Amino acid sequence: MDEFVKFINSGVLAPFKRWGTKWSLWPVHLVTACCGAEFAHAFACGYDGERIGALSYGIARQTNLIIVEGAITRKMAKVLRITWEQMPDPKFVIVMGACGLNGGIFWNGYNLVKPSEVVPVDFFIPGCPPTPEALLRGIRQLQKKLETGDAESSADFYDLKLKKGKLPKFLPKSPKKISVNPCIVIDRRREVDWETGKKLLESFKVLKVENMVITAKNRIALRVSADRIREVASELRKMGFDHVKSVNVIDLPAEGKFIVEYHISSYSIREFMPVILNLFAEIPRAKPEVDSLSDIFPSADYMEREMQDLFGVVFRGNPWKGKFLLAPDTPENPLRKDFKLQEEVYVGD
Ligand code: SF4
Repeated sequence: MDEFVKFINSGVLAPFKRWGTKWSLWPVHLVTACCGAEFAHAFACGYDGERIGALSYGIARQTNLIIVEGAITRKMAKVLRITWEQMPDPKFVIVMGACGLNGGIFWNGYNLVKPSEVVPVDFFIPGCPPTPEALLRGIRQLQKKLETGDAESSADFYDLKLKKGKLPKFLPKSPKKISVNPCIVIDRRREVDWETGKKLLESFKVLKVENMVITAKNRIALRVSADRIREVASELRKMGFDHVKSVNVIDLPAEGKFIVEYHISSYSIREFMPVILNLFAEIPRAKPEVDSLSDIFPSADYMEREMQDLFGVVFRGNPWKGKFLLAPDTPENPLRKDFKLQEEVYVGD
C-alpha cells in the first residue's frame, strides 16, 4: 500500500493527482464568526465558488480544506482542532479575517486565540471582513500552491514584524486606563411625554421602590434595594410583566459596587408589549450576591448564569453551579473592570 501511495504522489500519475486535488477542494463548514457571511456570499449564486472547484461540505471526514471564518475563541479553538484532526490528509487551512490574523476588533479580548496556534495555516486573507473576491483569491492561491508547490502569495503585504517591543505604529496600543469613576446618568431635564408610562408609574406606587423614572418612550427604570428585588419582581409578574429580556451587570470598582439589572416586558398584555422595565439594584463588590429571579421569570435563568461566569456575581437560588459559558481554562471574571489582560498572546511574535 505504501508503495502505491508513493507512486501516486511522485510517479507519472503525480501531476494528475495534483490537478485533481486542485479542482476538488471541499471546505468543511465551520462558521465561527461574522466572516461566515462573506463565506456564504462567495459560494452563493453571485460568485458561485463552486465554479472554481471548491464546494463547501458538511462532514469533516470527507473534506480537505478548512476555512477559519474570523474570530476563534478559547472554546472554539478545541472545536477547530478536533475538526482539523478528523480531516484526512492532505488537508489545508485558510484563515480569513483580521480576527484570525491577530485578533481584529477583539484584539484585546480575554477570550481570543490565534488560529495559527491551533492548526497549521497555509494562507491568511486580511480584511474585516474580507470580501468574497478576497476569499476566492485565497482559494486560487491555494490551488496555485497545490499545482506548483509554490507557497508564495502574489499579493503585496506590508512587512509586519510583530515582535515584542517593535510593534508597527498602526497597531492599536493596549488600553492602559479605564475611567476611574464610570457612572450612569439619566438626563432628567427632558420630560418624556408618554401617557401609558405615566399611568404605569401611578400603578407602580404600591411597589414602594426607591426611585422610578421614565427614561424614554417605552422605558421605565425602577431602582430597588437588593433585598427587595424578588418581592418587586413578583408583583410585576402579577401585573402582567411575564418575561425577562436580558440580565446585565455593571461594574463600578471605584464605588465598590455592582449594579444588577433586569429588562422586563410582557408577551401576554398587548399594551405592555412595547414597554421595557429596567429593574435594578446595587450590591457590594466585596460580597457580590443577589437573589435569583429565575423561578419568577424562567427566561432569566441562562442570563444569570452568563453574568455569574463573566462577573462572578452569585445569583442565590439559581439551580446552576459551575462554568457554563466559557471554556474551562478561561480566567476568572473576565468582564470585571480590573481584569488584567494577557496581551502578549494576541500581538506578540
Ligand atoms: S474579521 Fe471582521 S467580519 Fe471577520 S470575524 Fe472578525 S469582526 Fe467579524
